Amino acid sequence: MKMVGIPKTAVREAYIANRRARAMGKYQLSITSPDLNSQAYRSFRLGKDLHQAILHNQFVLYYQPRVDAKTFEVVSGEALLRWQHPEFGMVSPAEFIPLAEATGLIVKLGEWVIEQVLLAYQSWQTITCENFTLSLNVSGEQLINFGFQDRVDALFSRAGIDRQAIEFEITESLFTDRHDQFQTTIHSLQVQGNRIALDDFGTGFSSLSRLKDLPCEVLKIDRSFVLHISIREDDRIIVEAVIKLAHALGMTVVAEGVETIEQLRLLQEVDCDGIQGYLFSRPVPAEQFEQILLGKKITIG
Ligand code: C2E
Ligand code: CA
Ligand code: CA
Repeated sequence: MKMVGIPKTAVREAYIANRRARAMGKYQLSITSPDLNSQAYRSFRLGKDLHQAILHNQFVLYYQPRVDAKTFEVVSGEALLRWQHPEFGMVSPAEFIPLAEATGLIVKLGEWVIEQVLLAYQSWQTITCENFTLSLNVSGEQLINFGFQDRVDALFSRAGIDRQAIEFEITESLFTDRHDQFQTTIHSLQVQGNRIALDDFGTGFSSLSRLKDLPCEVLKIDRSFVLHISIREDDRIIVEAVIKLAHALGMTVVAEGVETIEQLRLLQEVDCDGIQGYLFSRPVPAEQFEQILLGKKITIG
């Protein structure tokens, strides 16, 4: 029996379904039926094109400033990856990071990110404040990849940059999943001097009492808490308690996704250290971030 067309479609759909299923974790991508075909085609194309994208220089890093909650001085910047796809335009990391993780390409891509961040740090060294840091996001797949630590060490010695200058942002779930493997790598990064930021705090299942077991220098409170602090008393109480406890444990606390003056005011009241969010700036290309650094402080609206 001659099979025409069907197997190809079936394979393609299985491929897409697989990618989609993997993407459902943190990113909650949802694909609804009316545009299923175009979405399916898009996922298929993105998965296929990802392999060539690094070679063709299609990735770019944007930076979002983190400011001191009291002085509004730019104390740090988070590197956030974008993909300039030749057909689809700018693609969000929420869409392609899960694909990169599923295909293992995240290892190469992640190394490119570290390399670029080190170069950027070097070029901004003369215009940044004392103790300025840049942070970058790392996936679990990178951390458990054999040789990750050696490659990171090599990149830092080549760049000649103080390890303390670069923060690795790691999501809360990695401290709980496959606990031992992650702990070992995270610990060696810290031994070398890198700071670790616990990203998206509050979205996982860890309780406040677990904070003492999470060895990190910075705690980033997830946007979902920040979103409601001005309208929900309970969220404000939780955020205040988290900040108090984190401070007692010697951590610096950063609030993510701050969009309104009201949120900022409440976060200042509960002694939050750092603020990141659209209120101050969206993530911007490197050249624009440099202009922000030259201005030292950001004024709101
Ligand atoms: P994340 O690390 O939690 O990054 C913060 C996300 O929130 C960014 O989305 C940022 O643009 C967005 N954001 C910042 N301020 C605000 C705000 O005030 N309001 C709202 N609504 N959103 C805000 P983005 O750039 O789309 O990144 C999404 C996620 O992709 C990141 O979440 C991170 O987990 C992942 N990601 C980005 N770059 C990398 C990377 O180089 N490597 C890895 N492994 N993951 C990355
Ligand atoms: Ca992050
Ligand atoms: Ca986050």
